Amino acid sequence: MLNKKSVDDINVKGKKVLVRCDFNVPLKDGKITDENRLVAALPTIRKLIADGGRVILCSHLGKPKGEPKPELSLAPVAVRLSELLGQEVKFAADPEVVGPNAKAAVEAMKDGEVILLENTRYRAEETKNGEAFSRELASLADVFVNDAFGTAHRAHCSNVGVTQYVETSVVGYLMQKEIDFLGNAVDNPVRPFVAILGGAKVADKLNVISNLLEKCDTLIIGGGMAYTFLKAKGYEVGTSLVDDTKIDYCREMMDKAASLGKELLLPIDTTIAKEFPSPIDAEIEISVVDSKAIPADMMGLDIGTKTAELYADAVKSAKTVVWNGPMGVFENPILAKGTIAVAKSLADTDATTIIGGGDSAAAVNQLGFGAQMSHISTGGGASLEFLEGKELPGVAAANDK
Ligand code: AMP
Repeated sequence: MLNKKSVDDINVKGKKVLVRCDFNVPLKDGKITDENRLVAALPTIRKLIADGGRVILCSHLGKPKGEPKPELSLAPVAVRLSELLGQEVKFAADPEVVGPNAKAAVEAMKDGEVILLENTRYRAEETKNGEAFSRELASLADVFVNDAFGTAHRAHCSNVGVTQYVETSVVGYLMQKEIDFLGNAVDNPVRPFVAILGGAKVADKLNVISNLLEKCDTLIIGGGMAYTFLKAKGYEVGTSLVDDTKIDYCREMMDKAASLGKELLLPIDTTIAKEFPSPIDAEIEISVVDSKAIPADMMGLDIGTKTAELYADAVKSAKTVVWNGPMGVFENPILAKGTIAVAKSLADTDATTIIGGGDSAAAVNQLGFGAQMSHISTGGGASLEFLEGKELPGVAAANDK
């Protein structure tokens, strides 16, 4: 369990509460195309409103690189949040984030009212955790609440620096839920614990593989990263995605699994094509071959049917499953079958199922299995760093219980 103070441990009546949310939502022509992160932030905001706090929300959006970019303004978020909350969320449109609009709005606030500041990354100091901007943010508030799991692996002004200049810093419900799910899975799992890793590159997940091998009972590897493992086993992998600099690492991980008595599952068959689809959803001709029989001029782009069954069987006997990274090029319906099979096996089990953020969350939602998972993380990078066993600076900065 997370040993940090939360919104349940403080009294915010009449206090100015600065809440760092993760409103980094995809926008198209000024419209929010996926509001999962807004919805996920509502429980904390509602709690603070109900308790009579004066709620000052802040977040980053995209990468404006330290200058105001109108297309990355949080203004559309204020509009949608007002609808979701059923009360006005006043937008403080200051290009410097903490400017005259924000100050005046905070000054005029009554208990239970909500305002939203402009994109914190309009300020160049934000991502450098600079003192001046941290102090400016802190000057608006009596209490700080961090509910932005998606940025918890970064030390920025709005989630770490600011905590040095307010007396009370706690975590919100979303942060608590994320850490409880991921933390219980990794450190206190109901066994058998099966971890499934996929995605493009081994290099992106080196520490995750190593750490999860120590914690889980079975580690399943799929996606592009599987081919470096298969090559390390001495197989021909054709033109599949391979990182030749990580072959020794993969051998080490296979040895580590053997010496720890852990099961490490690799694709026994693979879906191949002549080349990577272009555009990504182009119709392509595929075949499925044994993983030992990939022709030299072919590329592996998804796990095969037997592998999908093998992985589904492993999931069936699990009590805890953590999944990060697709099993193949799931953006293409012809190459999404392995990812769908694994998603379906998670949807069908009674085990606790936890999906890492980013591509895996997108894949599960896009394939229509979102509602059947125990928890879908809102943080891609943050959930990966958590699975690596790293302490997240955004969490560490909150007051201990
Ligand atoms: P990641 O961001 O590491 O989770 O990787 C996700 C990306 O990996 C997706 O865009 C997939 O299309 C891609 N991917 C999955 N399997 C393969 C593969 N066999 N070859 C190339 N790319 C893959």
